[in-house]
Amino acid sequence: MEEDEDRTVWDLAWSSMPHRRILDVSKFDFVKVSGLDPGEVVTVTIAEAPMEHLQKMYVSTPICPICGKSTEAESDRVAVGFYPRFTRISRLGFAGWAHKKCLDVCPLIDEPTPIPW
Ligand SMILES: [Zn+2]
Repeated sequence: MEEDEDRTVWDLAWSSMPHRRILDVSKFDFVKVSGLDPGEVVTVTIAEAPMEHLQKMYVSTPICPICGKSTEAESDRVAVGFYPRFTRISRLGFAGWAHKKCLDVCPLIDEPTPIPW
């Protein structure tokens, strides 16, 4: 029972975060991070991760998916979920870090924010 409640809180927290689109998807190797053979990247969307759930996330990479540079030395980074769509796999979700300033220039899109995991 308690787990269901946790899940509801989790889903709400994620779905309330602004959903954005990464315009230039050439800076980061989304195919490689997928560990699969998903085809070509079609689009990638991204959303900041809710702070209160940060410690529950498994973060797969310290590389910013927007600019392709490491976030490790940056204090100004934010936890994110990012969601590439490939030609052979419709949508995958990953947790990672992005620079706040990179995230800020990604335009907001009018699609529901995906809920990971
Ligand atoms: Zn960046």
